[in-house]
Amino acid sequence: MGIPATIGGALAMNAGTADGWIGDFVSAVYYLHPDGTLGEYKPSSATFTYRNFNAPAGAVLIGCRLRLHRKPLAEIQKEMKARLKVKKSTQPLALASAGCVWKNPPGDVAARMIEKCGLKGKRVNGAEISSKHANFIVNRGGGTAADILALMDLTRERVQGHFSVALEHEIRTIGE
Ligand SMILES: Cc1cc2nc3c(=O)[nH]c(=O)nc-3n(C[C@H](O)[C@H](O)[C@H](O)COP(=O)(O)OP(=O)(O)OC[C@H]3O[C@@H](n4cnc5c(N)ncnc54)[C@H](O)[C@@H]3O)c2cc1C
Repeated sequence: MGIPATIGGALAMNAGTADGWIGDFVSAVYYLHPDGTLGEYKPSSATFTYRNFNAPAGAVLIGCRLRLHRKPLAEIQKEMKARLKVKKSTQPLALASAGCVWKNPPGDVAARMIEKCGLKGKRVNGAEISSKHANFIVNRGGGTAADILALMDLTRERVQGHFSVALEHEIRTIGE
């Protein structure tokens, strides 16, 4: 799918694209309890939701079992190449970012809404709402977490005012 992630991070975020997410392929998850004991978890269809995995509280994910479909190697390589080409042409992969900032609200696309609000290319110091893909905030150099949070506040406010939709963030904020 061309998503940068460790297996633990991909499971915790239920990483995916419009074509599907990792949870669709998971038959078992292995984790470490906070007390150091090991556990196995058999996910059900409700376990994985949009960019979320309901892991046991405090668990560190250490592995999983994936149910994959067999395909000829050449076909897989061709598909990966095609997907990466699309990503490169539509996403600002040359600049530092955390990927998409916002979840798509039901029936709409966050990037389209942000673009409609005229926010593409909007900057706060070194942080910028990407002019290539409005759901990305890129760091043009020296951008701080506070700059990114300021752009997120502005986006939330403008989209709420324009579309009466409360955007939910996909990225997780850690710390202050
Ligand atoms: C250029 C770019 C493109 C991207 N495109 C996509 C995309 O198309 N689709 C998509 O879904 N995401 C995308 N992302 C976002 C990112 O790749 C995913 O969220 C990915 O799942 C993060 O994985 P990570 O290993 O880096 O985890 P981190 O970012 O380090 O962590 C993410 C969360 O998972 C938790 N976590 C991580 N490891 C574990 C573990 N072992 N056990 C328990 N919890 C854990 C962390 O505490 C954190 O809350 C993109 C990011 C970038 C930079």
